[in-house]
Amino acid sequence: MNYELAIIGAGPAGYSAAIYAVRAGIKTIVFDKGIGGGLAAISPNIENYPGFESIPGMELAEKMKQHASKYTVINFSEEVKNITKIDDDGDGFIVETINDSYNVKAVLLCTGTEYRKLNVPGEAELTGRGVSYCATCDGFFFKGKKVAVIGGGNTAVVEAIYLKQIGCKEVNLIHRRDQLRAEKAYEVEAREKKIKIHFNKVVEKIMGSGKVESLLLKDTKTGEKTELNVDGVFISIGEVPQNNLAKKLGVKLDENGYIVVDREGRTNVNGVYAAGDITDGLRQVVTACAEGAIAALTSTEAVGKKYPY
Ligand code: NAP
Repeated sequence: MNYELAIIGAGPAGYSAAIYAVRAGIKTIVFDKGIGGGLAAISPNIENYPGFESIPGMELAEKMKQHASKYTVINFSEEVKNITKIDDDGDGFIVETINDSYNVKAVLLCTGTEYRKLNVPGEAELTGRGVSYCATCDGFFFKGKKVAVIGGGNTAVVEAIYLKQIGCKEVNLIHRRDQLRAEKAYEVEAREKKIKIHFNKVVEKIMGSGKVESLLLKDTKTGEKTELNVDGVFISIGEVPQNNLAKKLGVKLDENGYIVVDREGRTNVNGVYAAGDITDGLRQVVTACAEGAIAALTSTEAVGKKYPY
């Protein structure tokens, strides 16, 4: 099957890119290995996307999906396994998915990030049995119960607030340093909601037989170890870039594994573009959408339809 542009990843960057690419006259196909929406879709509430004072991430993602679907084919649950460059003469790429193979002139990587793991004993064994990476998805099961959120960034604090709002009896926020990385406004709200913030603590072990029962914490200043009884633990310690396809294509990455792009979304490989959280930057929905639009219009150069900036 032949298309001009393959967009890999249907999060905010991918949806936005699809809308802009098709409107610029490019025959486009979008792939997502899951249901789309990216990490934004599992954000409890998005309060800084202009036009929406507060909207659940899933709802915003659904609106974007509906909008992009008006323009182009989006193949959900179709993971891209490999992308190979045909040659260096602008003949494009072969995109191999779990279902099929596609010939395209240009590739736009919007593959985003995935959750970082704590890598402590008990984490893997108890995932789905009290260990979770997503309060929006699993918080409901912990109504009336004691939980802990690990991390000090925006995601951790927003998730802690959400868990308190949906009725968790006690919410503990465990952070490895003596101050949060999260925006001040979120910290103020967390304190108002009586979230217990534990500074200078790291999780050494997640304990429980068959389900989470407690955490073994270590104080980073004193070395003292304490046990905190909880029914659930939400790990929110950031993200790691999903850069496997970029690596296979020989795309340049920065020291943290994010794709290096120029201001117009070009990578170092001709015909390969990138946008959204897979590139380093602010990692917000609003910037992902903007980067997707810019990279899509830039990719017109690879299909002989250069957009007149
Ligand atoms: P983040 O900002 O990278 O924060 C990760 C947190 O986890 C940091 O507090 C970090 O501690 C901690 N951490 C990392 N590795 C750890 C480990 N091995 N053990 C214990 N703690 C560890 O990630 P994020 O909160 O997921 O946010 C990702 C991006 O999305 C950010 O740009 C954020 O601003 C954005 N975001 C924005 C909003 C919003 O409403 N504006 C909401 C959610 C996310 P240190 O602080 O010590 O490094």
